[in-house]
Amino acid sequence: MQTKKGNALIWFRHDLRISDHEALFHATNRHQKVVAYYSFDPAHYANTKWGFKKTERFRAQFLIESVQQLQKDLAQLNISLIIENRAPAEGLSYWTQELGTTDFYFQTEWTSEEEHCSQEVEKKLNPNISIHQFYGQFLFHPKDLPFHFSSTPEVFTVFRKKCEKYATIDPCLPTPQAMEKSNLLEQTFHCPSLADLGLTSFEKHPNTAFPFKGGSAAAQERLDHYFWKSKKLSFYKQTRNGLLGKDYSSKFSAWLANGSLSAKEIYWQIKKYEQEVAKNQSTYWLIFELIWRDFFKYISLKHGTKIFKLGGILNKNYEWQNSAHEFKVWAEGKTPEPFVNANMIELNKTGWMSNRGRQNVASYLAKNIELDWRIGAAYFEAMLLDYDVHSNYGNWLYVSGVGNDPRDRKFNVSLQAERYDTNGKFQRLWNQNTLFE
Ligand code: FAD
Repeated sequence: MQTKKGNALIWFRHDLRISDHEALFHATNRHQKVVAYYSFDPAHYANTKWGFKKTERFRAQFLIESVQQLQKDLAQLNISLIIENRAPAEGLSYWTQELGTTDFYFQTEWTSEEEHCSQEVEKKLNPNISIHQFYGQFLFHPKDLPFHFSSTPEVFTVFRKKCEKYATIDPCLPTPQAMEKSNLLEQTFHCPSLADLGLTSFEKHPNTAFPFKGGSAAAQERLDHYFWKSKKLSFYKQTRNGLLGKDYSSKFSAWLANGSLSAKEIYWQIKKYEQEVAKNQSTYWLIFELIWRDFFKYISLKHGTKIFKLGGILNKNYEWQNSAHEFKVWAEGKTPEPFVNANMIELNKTGWMSNRGRQNVASYLAKNIELDWRIGAAYFEAMLLDYDVHSNYGNWLYVSGVGNDPRDRKFNVSLQAERYDTNGKFQRLWNQNTLFE
Protein backbone atom coordinates (compact mmCIF):
# COMPACT_ATOMS: atom_id res chain seq x y z
CA MET A 1 0.00 0.00 0.00
CA GLN A 2 1.33 3.44 -0.85
CA THR A 3 1.96 5.89 2.01
CA LYS A 4 -0.52 8.70 2.05
CA LYS A 5 0.80 12.22 2.09
CA GLY A 6 -0.31 15.78 1.43
CA ASN A 7 -3.68 17.51 1.36
CA ALA A 8 -5.98 17.19 -1.62
CA LEU A 9 -8.80 19.43 -2.74
CA ILE A 10 -11.26 18.12 -5.35
CA TRP A 11 -13.20 20.64 -7.38
CA PHE A 12 -16.57 19.15 -8.43
CA ARG A 13 -18.32 20.54 -11.51
CA HIS A 14 -20.18 18.19 -13.86
CA ASP A 15 -19.19 15.05 -11.93
CA LEU A 16 -21.48 15.11 -8.88
CA ARG A 17 -21.04 11.53 -7.67
CA ILE A 18 -18.74 9.42 -5.53
CA SER A 19 -18.86 6.18 -7.53
CA ASP A 20 -16.83 5.73 -10.71
CA HIS A 21 -15.05 8.99 -9.96
CA GLU A 22 -11.40 9.00 -10.90
CA ALA A 23 -10.35 12.15 -9.05
CA LEU A 24 -11.99 11.04 -5.81
CA PHE A 25 -10.67 7.51 -6.15
CA HIS A 26 -7.05 8.63 -6.59
CA ALA A 27 -7.18 11.49 -4.10
CA THR A 28 -8.49 9.25 -1.30
CA ASN A 29 -5.86 6.61 -2.09
CA ARG A 30 -2.96 9.01 -2.14
CA HIS A 31 -3.56 11.75 0.41
CA GLN A 32 -3.90 12.10 4.16
CA LYS A 33 -6.52 14.81 3.91
CA VAL A 34 -9.18 15.24 1.23
CA VAL A 35 -11.68 18.10 0.97
CA ALA A 36 -14.26 18.66 -1.78
CA TYR A 37 -15.47 21.94 -3.25
CA TYR A 38 -18.47 23.03 -5.33
CA SER A 39 -19.45 26.53 -6.33
CA PHE A 40 -22.76 27.75 -7.74
CA ASP A 41 -20.81 30.08 -10.01
CA PRO A 42 -22.72 33.41 -10.28
CA ALA A 43 -21.79 33.53 -13.98
CA HIS A 44 -24.13 30.55 -14.53
CA TYR A 45 -27.11 32.46 -13.12
CA ALA A 46 -26.55 35.77 -14.91
CA ASN A 47 -28.73 37.23 -17.68
CA THR A 48 -27.66 36.44 -21.22
CA LYS A 49 -27.44 38.85 -24.14
CA TRP A 50 -30.60 37.20 -25.47
CA GLY A 51 -32.73 38.58 -22.64
CA PHE A 52 -33.18 35.48 -20.49
CA LYS A 53 -31.13 33.76 -17.82
CA LYS A 54 -28.30 31.36 -18.51
CA THR A 55 -29.77 28.84 -16.07
CA GLU A 56 -33.47 28.85 -15.26
CA ARG A 57 -35.14 27.49 -12.15
CA PHE A 58 -35.69 23.87 -13.27
CA ARG A 59 -32.03 22.98 -13.70
CA ALA A 60 -31.01 25.16 -10.77
CA GLN A 61 -33.36 23.23 -8.47
CA PHE A 62 -32.13 19.91 -9.84
CA LEU A 63 -28.56 21.05 -9.26
CA ILE A 64 -29.26 22.10 -5.67
CA GLU A 65 -30.70 18.64 -4.99
CA SER A 66 -27.73 17.01 -6.70
CA VAL A 67 -25.19 18.94 -4.63
CA GLN A 68 -27.09 18.22 -1.42
CA GLN A 69 -26.94 14.51 -2.23
CA LEU A 70 -23.26 14.74 -3.07
CA GLN A 71 -22.63 16.38 0.29
CA LYS A 72 -24.41 13.49 2.06
CA ASP A 73 -22.55 10.88 0.02
CA LEU A 74 -19.20 12.51 0.72
CA ALA A 75 -20.03 12.79 4.42
CA GLN A 76 -20.32 8.97 4.45
CA LEU A 77 -16.69 8.95 3.38
CA ASN A 78 -15.81 11.55 6.06
CA ILE A 79 -15.14 14.14 3.39
CA SER A 80 -16.49 17.68 3.73
CA LEU A 81 -18.03 19.44 0.77
CA ILE A 82 -17.46 23.18 0.80
CA ILE A 83 -20.38 24.84 -1.00
CA GLU A 84 -20.24 28.45 -2.08
CA ASN A 85 -21.74 30.79 -4.62
CA ARG A 86 -18.83 32.88 -5.74
CA ALA A 87 -16.49 32.67 -8.73
CA PRO A 88 -14.50 29.39 -8.43
CA ALA A 89 -11.21 31.23 -9.01
CA GLU A 90 -11.79 33.32 -5.86
CA GLY A 91 -13.17 30.50 -3.75
CA LEU A 92 -10.51 27.99 -4.70
CA SER A 93 -7.60 30.37 -4.24
CA TYR A 94 -8.93 31.12 -0.74
CA TRP A 95 -9.57 27.51 0.28
CA THR A 96 -6.38 26.01 -1.11
CA GLN A 97 -4.41 28.53 0.98
CA GLU A 98 -6.57 28.04 4.05
CA LEU A 99 -6.28 24.25 3.88
CA GLY A 100 -2.65 24.05 2.82
CA THR A 101 -3.62 22.10 -0.31
CA THR A 102 -0.74 20.28 -1.99
CA ASP A 103 -2.76 18.51 -4.73
CA PHE A 104 -5.67 19.86 -6.71
CA TYR A 105 -8.01 17.51 -8.61
CA PHE A 106 -10.72 18.11 -11.18
CA GLN A 107 -12.46 16.72 -14.25
CA THR A 108 -11.20 18.21 -17.51
CA GLU A 109 -13.60 20.50 -19.35
CA TRP A 110 -12.68 21.96 -22.74
CA THR A 111 -15.57 24.14 -23.96
CA SER A 112 -14.67 27.83 -23.99
CA GLU A 113 -16.47 29.09 -20.87
CA GLU A 114 -15.52 26.07 -18.79
CA GLU A 115 -11.93 26.18 -19.96
CA HIS A 116 -11.69 29.90 -19.28
CA CYS A 117 -12.97 29.24 -15.76
CA SER A 118 -10.36 26.47 -15.17
CA GLN A 119 -7.61 28.77 -16.46
CA GLU A 120 -8.66 31.52 -14.07
CA VAL A 121 -8.62 29.00 -11.22
CA GLU A 122 -5.18 27.70 -12.15
CA LYS A 123 -3.77 31.23 -12.47
CA LYS A 124 -4.71 31.98 -8.88
CA LEU A 125 -3.45 28.74 -7.37
CA ASN A 126 -0.12 28.61 -5.62
CA PRO A 127 2.27 27.32 -8.33
CA ASN A 128 3.61 24.65 -5.95
CA ILE A 129 0.27 22.85 -5.94
CA SER A 130 0.23 19.76 -8.17
CA ILE A 131 -2.70 19.64 -10.55
CA HIS A 132 -4.39 16.35 -11.53
CA GLN A 133 -7.02 16.27 -14.27
CA PHE A 134 -9.17 13.45 -15.61
CA TYR A 135 -11.65 12.79 -18.39
CA GLY A 136 -14.52 11.23 -16.45
CA GLN A 137 -17.43 12.09 -18.71
CA PHE A 138 -16.99 9.60 -21.55
CA LEU A 139 -18.11 6.08 -22.29
CA PHE A 140 -15.05 5.54 -24.49
CA HIS A 141 -12.11 7.19 -22.76
CA PRO A 142 -9.91 9.25 -25.13
CA LYS A 143 -6.95 6.94 -24.36
CA ASP A 144 -8.94 3.98 -25.74
CA LEU A 145 -10.06 5.49 -29.04
CA PRO A 146 -8.59 4.05 -32.22
CA PHE A 147 -7.90 7.63 -33.41
CA HIS A 148 -6.76 10.90 -31.85
CA PHE A 149 -9.73 13.08 -30.96
CA SER A 150 -8.56 15.61 -33.55
CA SER A 151 -9.36 12.98 -36.20
CA THR A 152 -12.86 12.17 -34.90
CA PRO A 153 -14.95 11.06 -37.91
CA GLU A 154 -17.61 13.62 -38.87
CA VAL A 155 -20.24 10.99 -39.61
CA PHE A 156 -21.76 9.34 -36.56
CA THR A 157 -21.98 5.85 -38.11
CA VAL A 158 -18.27 5.87 -38.93
CA PHE A 159 -17.44 7.05 -35.41
CA ARG A 160 -19.71 4.42 -33.83
CA LYS A 161 -18.43 1.53 -35.91
CA LYS A 162 -14.79 2.37 -35.18
CA CYS A 163 -15.46 2.69 -31.46
CA GLU A 164 -17.48 -0.51 -31.35
CA LYS A 165 -14.82 -2.44 -33.22
CA TYR A 166 -11.60 -1.13 -31.72
CA ALA A 167 -12.29 0.61 -28.39
CA THR A 168 -12.86 -0.95 -25.00
CA ILE A 169 -14.87 0.49 -22.14
CA ASP A 170 -13.15 0.76 -18.78
CA PRO A 171 -14.71 -0.90 -15.76
CA CYS A 172 -16.28 1.45 -13.20
CA LEU A 173 -14.06 2.59 -10.37
CA PRO A 174 -15.33 1.55 -6.94
CA THR A 175 -16.60 4.01 -4.37
CA PRO A 176 -13.59 4.84 -2.19
CA GLN A 177 -13.11 3.62 1.39
CA ALA A 178 -14.07 6.14 4.06
CA MET A 179 -11.33 8.44 5.35
CA GLU A 180 -10.62 8.86 9.07
CA LYS A 181 -13.31 10.89 10.88
CA SER A 182 -10.68 13.54 11.65
CA ASN A 183 -10.63 14.34 7.93
CA LEU A 184 -13.94 16.22 8.30
CA LEU A 185 -13.84 20.01 8.60
CA GLU A 186 -15.56 21.56 11.62
CA GLN A 187 -17.59 23.91 9.51
CA THR A 188 -20.62 22.70 7.54
CA PHE A 189 -21.83 24.35 4.36
CA HIS A 190 -25.25 24.83 2.82
CA CYS A 191 -26.56 25.13 -0.70
CA PRO A 192 -27.97 28.48 -1.74
CA SER A 193 -31.73 28.62 -2.29
CA LEU A 194 -33.34 29.40 -5.64
CA ALA A 195 -33.96 32.92 -4.34
CA ASP A 196 -30.23 33.29 -3.50
CA LEU A 197 -29.56 32.48 -7.15
CA GLY A 198 -32.06 35.11 -8.29
CA LEU A 199 -34.71 32.55 -9.28
CA THR A 200 -38.29 31.96 -8.25
CA SER A 201 -39.50 28.78 -6.58
CA PHE A 202 -42.08 26.54 -8.25
CA GLU A 203 -44.24 23.46 -7.80
CA LYS A 204 -43.72 20.50 -10.12
CA HIS A 205 -46.32 20.64 -12.89
CA PRO A 206 -48.98 17.92 -12.54
CA ASN A 207 -48.57 16.93 -16.22
CA THR A 208 -44.81 16.54 -16.05
CA ALA A 209 -43.47 13.57 -18.03
CA PHE A 210 -41.18 12.80 -15.11
CA PRO A 211 -40.87 14.22 -11.60
CA PHE A 212 -37.10 14.75 -11.80
CA LYS A 213 -35.16 14.76 -8.55
CA GLY A 214 -31.48 15.59 -8.51
CA GLY A 215 -28.66 13.48 -7.08
CA SER A 216 -26.98 10.13 -7.37
CA ALA A 217 -29.52 8.31 -5.15
CA ALA A 218 -32.43 9.35 -7.38
CA ALA A 219 -30.35 8.41 -10.45
CA GLN A 220 -29.72 4.91 -9.08
CA GLU A 221 -33.39 4.58 -8.18
CA ARG A 222 -34.37 5.47 -11.75
CA LEU A 223 -31.89 2.98 -13.15
CA ASP A 224 -33.19 0.33 -10.81
CA HIS A 225 -36.76 1.04 -11.91
CA TYR A 226 -36.10 1.27 -15.65
CA PHE A 227 -33.89 -1.81 -15.80
CA TRP A 228 -34.54 -4.20 -12.96
CA LYS A 229 -38.02 -3.51 -11.59
CA SER A 230 -40.07 -2.67 -14.68
CA LYS A 231 -37.71 -4.20 -17.28
CA LYS A 232 -38.65 -1.33 -19.61
CA LEU A 233 -35.14 -1.50 -21.00
CA SER A 234 -36.24 -4.57 -22.97
CA PHE A 235 -38.69 -2.37 -24.95
CA TYR A 236 -36.66 0.84 -25.24
CA LYS A 237 -36.19 0.70 -29.03
CA GLN A 238 -39.95 0.54 -29.63
CA THR A 239 -40.86 3.27 -27.13
CA ARG A 240 -37.98 5.76 -27.37
CA ASN A 241 -39.76 8.14 -29.77
CA GLY A 242 -42.63 8.63 -27.35
CA LEU A 243 -43.91 11.91 -25.99
CA LEU A 244 -46.01 10.97 -22.98
CA GLY A 245 -45.28 9.30 -19.70
CA LYS A 246 -42.37 8.32 -17.52
CA ASP A 247 -41.02 5.29 -19.28
CA TYR A 248 -40.92 5.85 -23.05
CA SER A 249 -37.23 6.68 -22.60
CA SER A 250 -34.72 6.29 -19.81
CA LYS A 251 -34.73 9.95 -18.57
CA PHE A 252 -31.09 9.45 -17.59
CA SER A 253 -29.97 12.64 -19.35
CA ALA A 254 -30.40 15.08 -16.45
CA TRP A 255 -28.25 12.96 -14.12
CA LEU A 256 -25.72 12.28 -16.85
CA ALA A 257 -25.44 16.00 -17.58
CA ASN A 258 -24.33 16.95 -14.09
CA GLY A 259 -22.50 13.70 -13.54
CA SER A 260 -24.65 12.24 -10.75
CA LEU A 261 -24.55 9.13 -12.92
CA SER A 262 -21.76 8.06 -15.26
CA ALA A 263 -22.21 6.67 -18.77
CA LYS A 264 -20.02 3.70 -17.78
CA GLU A 265 -22.29 2.90 -14.83
CA ILE A 266 -25.23 2.67 -17.25
CA TYR A 267 -23.23 0.66 -19.77
CA TRP A 268 -22.11 -1.99 -17.25
CA GLN A 269 -25.64 -2.29 -15.86
CA ILE A 270 -26.89 -2.92 -19.41
CA LYS A 271 -24.27 -5.65 -19.81
CA LYS A 272 -25.39 -7.22 -16.53
CA TYR A 273 -29.03 -6.97 -17.62
CA GLU A 274 -28.18 -8.65 -20.92
CA GLN A 275 -26.64 -11.54 -19.00
CA GLU A 276 -29.24 -11.86 -16.31
CA VAL A 277 -32.51 -10.84 -18.01
CA ALA A 278 -32.39 -10.54 -21.79
CA LYS A 279 -30.27 -9.19 -24.58
CA ASN A 280 -32.10 -7.71 -27.57
CA GLN A 281 -32.14 -4.75 -29.95
CA SER A 282 -33.46 -2.49 -27.21
CA THR A 283 -30.63 -3.19 -24.79
CA TYR A 284 -28.18 -2.46 -27.61
CA TRP A 285 -30.07 0.71 -28.57
CA LEU A 286 -29.51 2.38 -25.24
CA ILE A 287 -25.78 1.84 -25.72
CA PHE A 288 -26.17 3.21 -29.25
CA GLU A 289 -27.66 6.42 -27.79
CA LEU A 290 -24.87 6.71 -25.24
CA ILE A 291 -22.47 6.57 -28.18
CA TRP A 292 -24.28 9.60 -29.67
CA ARG A 293 -23.54 11.36 -26.41
CA ASP A 294 -19.84 10.53 -26.73
CA PHE A 295 -19.88 11.51 -30.39
CA PHE A 296 -20.95 15.09 -29.61
CA LYS A 297 -18.33 15.32 -26.89
CA TYR A 298 -15.63 14.32 -29.35
CA ILE A 299 -17.02 16.69 -32.00
CA SER A 300 -16.76 19.56 -29.53
CA LEU A 301 -13.26 18.48 -28.47
CA LYS A 302 -12.23 18.42 -32.12
CA HIS A 303 -13.82 21.67 -33.26
CA GLY A 304 -13.41 23.87 -30.17
CA THR A 305 -15.30 27.19 -30.33
CA LYS A 306 -16.68 26.48 -33.82
CA ILE A 307 -19.62 24.67 -32.23
CA PHE A 308 -20.84 28.04 -30.93
CA LYS A 309 -20.44 29.90 -34.23
CA LEU A 310 -23.35 30.71 -36.56
CA GLY A 311 -21.74 28.89 -39.51
CA GLY A 312 -21.04 25.91 -37.24
CA ILE A 313 -18.34 23.36 -37.90
CA LEU A 314 -19.08 23.55 -41.65
CA ASN A 315 -18.47 27.35 -41.83
CA LYS A 316 -21.77 27.66 -43.72
CA ASN A 317 -22.77 31.11 -44.85
CA TYR A 318 -26.56 30.86 -44.66
CA GLU A 319 -28.84 33.88 -44.23
CA TRP A 320 -30.36 33.86 -40.74
CA GLN A 321 -33.17 36.03 -39.36
CA ASN A 322 -32.86 37.85 -36.10
CA SER A 323 -36.40 38.75 -35.09
CA ALA A 324 -37.10 39.14 -31.37
CA HIS A 325 -40.81 38.80 -32.17
CA GLU A 326 -40.42 35.49 -34.06
CA PHE A 327 -38.28 34.15 -31.24
CA LYS A 328 -40.89 35.10 -28.63
CA VAL A 329 -43.64 33.41 -30.65
CA TRP A 330 -41.56 30.22 -30.85
CA ALA A 331 -40.41 30.29 -27.23
CA GLU A 332 -43.91 30.90 -25.87
CA GLY A 333 -45.44 28.18 -28.01
CA LYS A 334 -47.62 30.47 -30.12
CA THR A 335 -46.61 29.44 -33.63
CA PRO A 336 -49.10 28.20 -36.26
CA GLU A 337 -47.86 24.63 -35.53
CA PRO A 338 -49.70 23.03 -32.57
CA PHE A 339 -47.03 20.32 -32.27
CA VAL A 340 -44.23 22.88 -31.88
CA ASN A 341 -46.36 24.79 -29.39
CA ALA A 342 -47.15 21.77 -27.24
CA ASN A 343 -43.46 20.90 -26.99
CA MET A 344 -42.41 24.45 -26.14
CA ILE A 345 -45.12 24.73 -23.50
CA GLU A 346 -43.98 21.45 -21.98
CA LEU A 347 -40.43 22.83 -21.83
CA ASN A 348 -41.56 26.11 -20.27
CA LYS A 349 -43.61 24.41 -17.60
CA THR A 350 -41.37 21.48 -16.73
CA GLY A 351 -37.81 21.96 -18.06
CA TRP A 352 -38.28 18.78 -20.10
CA MET A 353 -38.88 17.93 -23.75
CA SER A 354 -38.64 14.55 -25.50
CA ASN A 355 -36.01 13.92 -28.15
CA ARG A 356 -38.70 13.87 -30.86
CA GLY A 357 -39.98 17.22 -29.63
CA ARG A 358 -36.49 18.75 -29.53
CA GLN A 359 -35.78 17.70 -33.11
CA ASN A 360 -39.02 19.24 -34.34
CA VAL A 361 -38.92 22.55 -32.51
CA ALA A 362 -35.24 23.04 -33.40
CA SER A 363 -35.85 22.21 -37.06
CA TYR A 364 -38.83 24.57 -37.08
CA LEU A 365 -36.76 27.44 -35.64
CA ALA A 366 -33.76 26.93 -37.90
CA LYS A 367 -35.38 25.73 -41.11
CA ASN A 368 -38.92 27.11 -41.18
CA ILE A 369 -38.51 30.52 -39.61
CA GLU A 370 -34.76 30.51 -40.31
CA LEU A 371 -33.87 32.24 -37.05
CA ASP A 372 -30.27 32.36 -35.84
CA TRP A 373 -30.17 28.85 -34.36
CA ARG A 374 -27.96 30.01 -31.49
CA ILE A 375 -30.88 31.78 -29.82
CA GLY A 376 -32.78 28.48 -29.80
CA ALA A 377 -29.75 26.69 -28.39
CA ALA A 378 -29.32 29.39 -25.72
CA TYR A 379 -33.00 29.09 -24.80
CA PHE A 380 -32.61 25.33 -24.40
CA GLU A 381 -29.53 26.02 -22.29
CA ALA A 382 -31.61 28.16 -19.96
CA MET A 383 -34.63 25.90 -19.76
CA LEU A 384 -33.52 22.28 -20.04
CA LEU A 385 -33.12 20.22 -16.90
CA ASP A 386 -30.58 18.10 -18.73
CA TYR A 387 -28.64 20.84 -20.53
CA ASP A 388 -25.26 19.52 -21.57
CA VAL A 389 -23.06 21.82 -23.61
CA HIS A 390 -21.86 19.13 -26.05
CA SER A 391 -25.20 17.40 -26.63
CA ASN A 392 -27.09 20.65 -26.88
CA TYR A 393 -24.83 22.51 -29.27
CA GLY A 394 -23.98 19.32 -31.21
CA ASN A 395 -27.66 18.55 -31.79
CA TRP A 396 -28.53 22.14 -32.64
CA LEU A 397 -25.73 22.27 -35.21
CA TYR A 398 -26.89 18.95 -36.60
CA VAL A 399 -30.54 19.96 -36.96
CA SER A 400 -29.66 23.45 -38.28
CA GLY A 401 -27.60 22.11 -41.18
CA VAL A 402 -24.26 23.43 -39.93
CA GLY A 403 -23.06 20.28 -38.17
CA ASN A 404 -22.81 16.54 -38.66
CA ASP A 405 -25.98 15.59 -40.54
CA PRO A 406 -24.76 14.38 -43.94
CA ARG A 407 -28.34 14.62 -45.28
CA ASP A 408 -29.20 18.08 -43.87
CA ARG A 409 -32.85 17.13 -43.26
CA LYS A 410 -35.81 19.40 -42.56
CA PHE A 411 -38.61 18.01 -40.41
CA ASN A 412 -42.15 18.17 -41.72
CA VAL A 413 -43.68 19.13 -38.40
CA SER A 414 -47.30 18.34 -39.27
CA LEU A 415 -46.37 14.90 -40.60
CA GLN A 416 -44.27 14.27 -37.52
CA ALA A 417 -47.23 15.20 -35.32
CA GLU A 418 -49.48 12.79 -37.22
CA ARG A 419 -46.94 10.02 -36.91
CA TYR A 420 -45.84 10.45 -33.29
CA ASP A 421 -48.98 11.99 -31.78
CA THR A 422 -51.57 10.28 -33.95
CA ASN A 423 -54.54 10.84 -31.67
CA GLY A 424 -53.37 14.33 -30.63
CA LYS A 425 -53.18 13.42 -26.94
CA PHE A 426 -49.82 15.09 -26.36
CA GLN A 427 -50.88 18.27 -28.14
CA ARG A 428 -54.12 18.44 -26.19
CA LEU A 429 -52.30 17.95 -22.91
CA TRP A 430 -50.16 21.04 -23.33
CA ASN A 431 -52.11 23.23 -25.73
CA GLN A 432 -55.29 23.44 -23.71
CA ASN A 433 -53.68 25.95 -21.36
CA THR A 434 -51.15 27.99 -23.24
CA LEU A 435 -50.47 30.65 -20.62
CA PHE A 436 -46.76 31.37 -20.40
CA GLU A 437 -45.83 31.15 -16.75
P1 FAD B 1 -32.85 8.16 -23.94
O1 FAD B 1 -33.55 8.04 -25.22
O2 FAD B 1 -33.24 7.26 -22.85
O3 FAD B 1 -31.30 8.00 -24.27
C1 FAD B 1 -30.34 7.60 -23.28
C2 FAD B 1 -29.22 8.58 -23.24
O4 FAD B 1 -28.53 8.63 -24.51
C3 FAD B 1 -29.65 10.01 -22.98
O5 FAD B 1 -29.84 10.23 -21.60
C4 FAD B 1 -28.49 10.80 -23.57
O6 FAD B 1 -27.41 10.86 -22.67
C5 FAD B 1 -28.07 9.95 -24.75
N1 FAD B 1 -28.71 10.48 -25.98
C6 FAD B 1 -29.87 10.11 -26.52
N2 FAD B 1 -30.10 10.81 -27.67
C7 FAD B 1 -29.05 11.64 -27.81
C8 FAD B 1 -28.68 12.62 -28.76
N3 FAD B 1 -29.46 12.92 -29.84
N4 FAD B 1 -27.55 13.31 -28.59
C9 FAD B 1 -26.75 13.07 -27.53
N5 FAD B 1 -27.02 12.14 -26.60
C10 FAD B 1 -28.16 11.45 -26.73
N6 FAD B 1 -29.37 15.85 -24.55
C11 FAD B 1 -28.82 16.22 -23.39
O7 FAD B 1 -28.48 15.37 -22.58
N7 FAD B 1 -28.63 17.54 -23.12
C12 FAD B 1 -28.99 18.52 -23.98
O8 FAD B 1 -28.77 19.70 -23.69
C13 FAD B 1 -29.61 18.14 -25.21
N8 FAD B 1 -30.02 19.07 -26.10
C14 FAD B 1 -30.59 18.66 -27.28
C15 FAD B 1 -30.98 19.63 -28.22
C16 FAD B 1 -31.58 19.25 -29.41
C17 FAD B 1 -31.97 20.31 -30.42
C18 FAD B 1 -31.81 17.89 -29.67
C19 FAD B 1 -32.46 17.45 -30.96
C20 FAD B 1 -31.41 16.93 -28.76
C21 FAD B 1 -30.80 17.29 -27.57
N9 FAD B 1 -30.38 16.33 -26.63
C22 FAD B 1 -29.78 16.74 -25.47
C23 FAD B 1 -30.40 14.90 -26.95
C24 FAD B 1 -31.66 14.11 -26.53
O9 FAD B 1 -32.81 14.78 -26.93
C25 FAD B 1 -31.70 13.87 -25.02
O10 FAD B 1 -30.46 13.33 -24.58
C26 FAD B 1 -32.79 12.87 -24.67
O11 FAD B 1 -34.03 13.31 -25.14
C27 FAD B 1 -32.83 12.70 -23.17
O12 FAD B 1 -33.84 11.83 -22.79
P2 FAD B 1 -33.51 10.39 -22.20
O13 FAD B 1 -32.44 10.47 -21.18
O14 FAD B 1 -34.80 9.79 -21.76
O15 FAD B 1 -32.94 9.69 -23.49
